[in-house]
Amino acid sequence: MKVFILENAFWNLLLSSVEVYPKECLGLLIGSSDKSRIVVHHAVVFQTAERFTRGVHFPRNHIHQGVLCFLEECLTHLKIVGDFHSHTKEADYRPSEEDQEGMDEDQVYVIVQIYKKKKNLPWRYNRQKTLLAGTTRDFYFKIGAWHKRLPAESFKLAQIICPFAAGFRSEKR
Ligand SMILES: [Zn+2]
Repeated sequence: MKVFILENAFWNLLLSSVEVYPKECLGLLIGSSDKSRIVVHHAVVFQTAERFTRGVHFPRNHIHQGVLCFLEECLTHLKIVGDFHSHTKEADYRPSEEDQEGMDEDQVYVIVQIYKKKKNLPWRYNRQKTLLAGTTRDFYFKIGAWHKRLPAESFKLAQIICPFAAGFRSEKR
């Protein structure tokens, strides 16, 4: 599975995570998909989510239904392809057990790990191209996209393709 993250969605993933730090943000991923790839066009934050430093609570079904109706009416070429949320602890880029209970097959779940950076790092992929990490002025980010095809499988990292992010450097001050 390959997950393409378009520029607009990439920025929203970072901004939404920074906005509520050190609490966690949560939102929907809107885009298109076929059997081998998912293209994320938009990352739309849930404004009704209640944010806590460990976890986010939100009326998922209610929000999904509202967004589904909106997409059917206004953006017929796009659909909900998954969720995203942030994790604000170091070494915590994997979905928790609680996260996995709310995750379905054939959707993608992006986790944005964010915490205060210790040094500057240029944006780049890991060797398997399944994690995308780098820094801005204040923060270190690590982005992973989790998915599974069958209910009995465990969640795995998908390959991320985000040409805009790779090589991106923030201005140093
Ligand atoms: Zn989580």
